Amino acid sequence: MSRPSNYKTILCAKYAEGFCPYGKDCNFAHGKNDQRSKYHPYPEFFEDRVANNDLLLKRLTELEQENQALRENQLKLEKAWKDSIHERKKLYQLILSQKTKEKLGGAKLAEEDFKGQPGDPC
Ligand SMILES: [Zn+2]
Repeated sequence: MSRPSNYKTILCAKYAEGFCPYGKDCNFAHGKNDQRSKYHPYPEFFEDRVANNDLLLKRLTELEQENQALRENQLKLEKAWKDSIHERKKLYQLILSQKTKEKLGGAKLAEEDFKGQPGDPC
């Protein structure tokens, strides 16, 4: 899309009168807000900026939704971890008692072995 170098630098007389048949395709500025400075190049065309802005807003909304989903997922995981405390404690107790049994068993065996030691003085 090519535009004249003086694009939107001059106010549109038709628009000022009330109606411009070119509408948004007019090369003249439709009001002060649409007017660009002769000394500063129009950074982007207004429609492009609006479209770009819409894309950015859409992406931002998507990111916010993704972020929300991730936060909810994290909360679920944290809740599951908290809810599993009893199971984890039980498991820990089981392992602990297993080790204690092993230890006690070992101690008992050693004791019995000692008591039953042949040739022990009575
Ligand atoms: Zn116009």
